[in-house]
Parts: sequence; structure tokens; C-alpha cells
Amino acid sequence: MGTLGNPKNTIEILNKYDFIIQKKFGQNFLIDNHVLEKIVRAADITKEDFVLEIGPGIGTLTQYLCESAGKVVAVEIDKKLIPILKETLSNYDNVTVINEDVLKLDIPALVKEHNNDRPIKVVANLPYYITTPIIMSLFENHVPLLNVTIMIQKEVADRIQAGPGSKEYGALSLAVQYYAKPYIAANVPPNCFIPRPKVGSAVINLTPYTESPYHVEDEKLLFNLIRASFNQRRKTLVNGIFNYEDLPYSKEEILAALESLDIPKYIRGEALGLEEFIAIANYLSN
Ligand code: SAM
Repeated sequence: MGTLGNPKNTIEILNKYDFIIQKKFGQNFLIDNHVLEKIVRAADITKEDFVLEIGPGIGTLTQYLCESAGKVVAVEIDKKLIPILKETLSNYDNVTVINEDVLKLDIPALVKEHNNDRPIKVVANLPYYITTPIIMSLFENHVPLLNVTIMIQKEVADRIQAGPGSKEYGALSLAVQYYAKPYIAANVPPNCFIPRPKVGSAVINLTPYTESPYHVEDEKLLFNLIRASFNQRRKTLVNGIFNYEDLPYSKEEILAALESLDIPKYIRGEALGLEEFIAIANYLSN
């Protein structure tokens, strides 16, 4: 498959272009073919697929994607990597590289332009500083998605997958699980990258629901409730909601909601599952 997934070839190309690794862009390049294969397998890529890659770096994962997908668009912020990508991707005619900050990119417009609005797959070894904003912007902007397969910090992957009662459980778990089913496809140690990150990493696959299993009257209210209850984790749910600026409810109204749903009045948000948050939101919105 690709040619760059080992230390020798990666160092060679970096030296050839006198490339200086930019910490501020979260640059940790993959140097392990097994991990690259696992990512492609977890994303279940076929020649039918259009893949958006975020942060191609020197093109290590991109080469694998070009071989297995129909079409690849890779968005890279660092302009110094563009000439390198030109060389490492020169054998492929199904890839477009865009030199842009992915957070400033209109992804729904990109999907329209490059894939006729048909659902895409997103694959990335993500720069860790944009993990949460990128995941949430894909879901909240309703980008048509088949799945999202990303390398992220292990600790964040655990938070995404966590359920009520565990210490990793929080607003991110609920936000992601509202849209998608997460599973961790691989744990990846620091020695699979140059330079080595300080923390362990994991490949997580998120498959969005084609039809949401949840009925929510007011999504904004639901997300505000979730934020309110994890904002002050040690407070009871009632106090968390009552103290939250963007929520106008009196203590009596919140207590009435809990009582009618048979939820104990001193409960903390961290003990509630997504379905209970939705029930409270639907009660309050009526
Ligand atoms: N895909 C390569 C690999 O697996 O070896 C590189 C992964 S490296 C962890 C993250 C890449 O994302 C870097 O190439 C970095 O320059 C790029 N990047 C960082 N912030 C970005 C942003 N806001 N938009 C697009 N690319 C970004």
C-alpha cells in the first residue's frame, strides 16, 4: 500500500524538504503500517466512497485512502506540506489537496461541490487541539456522513464512549452519542508516531444514526441542559440547571419535571443517561 508508513521513509522525505515539525499544528506523523491498515479497515472504505481527510501531513494515510477509496479530498493547514504532498501523492489521480484551515471550511458546501451532496466518510489522524470542535461541527452542521474514523487522544476516546456513573462520562459523551454510535477500533501507543506524542492515542469510529432513535422537541434546550449539569459536576442537577444563565427555569419547575419523571430530586447530572436528559428537556419544553 503506501510508502511512508515507516520511520526511514518518513524521515527521508522530511529531510529532503528541510521540513520543520510544527507543534502548534499538532503534527505527529504515523510511521506504522499496521495502524494505517487498521484505520482504513475501521472506516470500511471501498471504491464507492468519497473520503474527506483532515490533516494529510506528508500524505502517509492519504496514500492508503487513495488506493482504497473512489475519491479523496485532503485538507491541510500547513502550506509547507503542500509541495511534499505533491510529490508523495503524484501517483494518484483521485485526490484533491486543499490548503486551508478545516475549521474555516464550509464542509457541507464541499460535499455538495465534490460529491453531489451524497454522504461521505471522514478519516483523519487528527491534530488533537481540534478534536472536539471538528467532531461537533460535523454533526451540528448536519454534514451528510456515512462514518467518521479518527485517531484521537485515548483519554478523549474513552470520554466519548463512556456511560453514566463512570468518571469519564460528560457532556462530550452525551453530545456524540446523541448523533452516533461510537466504538474504539484500536489503541495506538506513542511509538507509532514521529515525533512521539506525550499521551496514548486511539482510533475511534463514529457511525451516525440514519434515523435518530431519539425524539427531541428542542435540541438547543437539550444541549443547554447537558452543559448546565456538567458545568458544575458536583452540584445537584436542579442547582446546575437553576444556576445556568441560558436556562430560565425556576427550582419549582425543575423539581416538577423530575418528580413527574420519577427521577430523585437530589440527583447529579452524571448519574443520568441520554434518554433521561431528553425526557427532562421534552418535559420542560412543553
Ligand atoms: N495524516 C498525517 C499522518 O497520519 O501522519 C498527519 C497527522 S498530524 C497528527 C495532523 C495534521 O493536521 C498535520 O499535518 C497538521 O498540519 C494538520 N492540521 C492541523 N490543524 C489543522 C487544521 N485546522 N486544518 C487542517 N489541517 C490541520
